[in-house]
Amino acid sequence: MKIILLGAPGAGKGTQATRISEKYGITHISTGDIFRANIKQGTEIGKLAKSYIDAGKLVPDSVTCEIVKNRLAEDDVKDGYLLDGFPRSLYQAEELSKFADIDLCLNFEVDTDLLMDRICGRRVCSCGESYHISTLNGATTCAKCGKQLYRRDDDNPETVKARLDTYNVMTAPLIAYYSAQNKLASVKCGNGTPEEVFKAVCEILDKYGK
Ligand code: AMP
Repeated sequence: MKIILLGAPGAGKGTQATRISEKYGITHISTGDIFRANIKQGTEIGKLAKSYIDAGKLVPDSVTCEIVKNRLAEDDVKDGYLLDGFPRSLYQAEELSKFADIDLCLNFEVDTDLLMDRICGRRVCSCGESYHISTLNGATTCAKCGKQLYRRDDDNPETVKARLDTYNVMTAPLIAYYSAQNKLASVKCGNGTPEEVFKAVCEILDKYGK
């Protein structure tokens, strides 16, 4: 199944992607992760992406669409994938439709008032797990794999504000776009725990026959 995960920054897309990927065996593709790996390796793409990521803006379409197009041409995603963080604009969605036939867009609905605190208090692990400082009780390592947790460079108030603005202007219109194609399924996250949200996600995916 070819699935898009849509939602504002901090909505929990990454956390749910890890769980979906483990349960259903669908490959998780995160454009944010691809950019962060490039930054770490010091590639030209990484150097370019960093300035946009630090400013809370979208990395140019020419670079982003090319990366996704190449990734989707690889063998391991022939039977399906989870796209996390792409598309992020109507232009990207139109580009995607030229090289992929998406089955479902899962939209994570969250109360935007919660997002600033959620993201700024977020601590992540390179294994994909994500935590909030309010529930870590001072722990600094990942409960799942034991590695050191860290705060993403762009999880600071100034950048988060820009990321939320970017989402509202550029990405939110995708809700209507996929709804018009009868491909949208919304998950009301409210204040639900990741487990509760995942239960709702599974109900949708099981209904769609995986
Ligand atoms: P994420 O990990 O999904 O929160 O993405 C982190 C940052 O990477 C975003 O704030 C953007 O700067 C950049 N990025 C990720 N996906 C895209 C995309 N589809 N188009 C443009 N920029 C992106």
